[in-house]
Amino acid sequence: MRIRRVVPPVVRQLAGDPLGLGRSAQSARSQQLTPRTRTADRVVQSICPYCAVGCGQKVYVKNEKIVQIEGDSNSPISRGRLCPKGAASENLVNSPMRETRVKYRAPGGTDWEFISLEQATDMIADRMIRTRDETWEEETDDGRPLKRTLGIHFLGGATLDSEENYLIKKFFTAAGALSIENQARI
Ligand code: SF4
Repeated sequence: MRIRRVVPPVVRQLAGDPLGLGRSAQSARSQQLTPRTRTADRVVQSICPYCAVGCGQKVYVKNEKIVQIEGDSNSPISRGRLCPKGAASENLVNSPMRETRVKYRAPGGTDWEFISLEQATDMIADRMIRTRDETWEEETDDGRPLKRTLGIHFLGGATLDSEENYLIKKFFTAAGALSIENQARI
């Protein structure tokens, strides 16, 4: 190792690494490192959750925890590439700042409070049923059927997948809503 450190990189390049992109450019420290991708138990193919491009990802799992996410070279869409946002996906999962509780701020309230998922779901259901009842339009003035509400709209996000978007579209259309938008279309 000591010999390696005193030999100039350009000389090391001549020993089988002409472009200087491999071992000749390695520091002694980086030589000691082992990538998380090599020590993972398994790799799961997935899709980047952020935008409608739908780049392929490889999710590396160790001890049932995600340890790294990288581009999937088998993806016909992205061929191994990820933009900086997609390349940072591992942080979406493992960040200590990730919010995993339901935050609620009451009308006129100045502070957030934490409520259970069950309570939040009940509150949303109550408001949706009430709004639908209050804004339901059964027919036009001259008696033609409408069966709709203009009081409920749905705006989706890029982390929804195709199956979720399909179910959301069916559900809200069945409820009589007209304005249904999902940002991602993978
Ligand atoms: S890696 Fe970037 S471009 Fe690709 S899907 Fe994710 S956010 Fe979109």
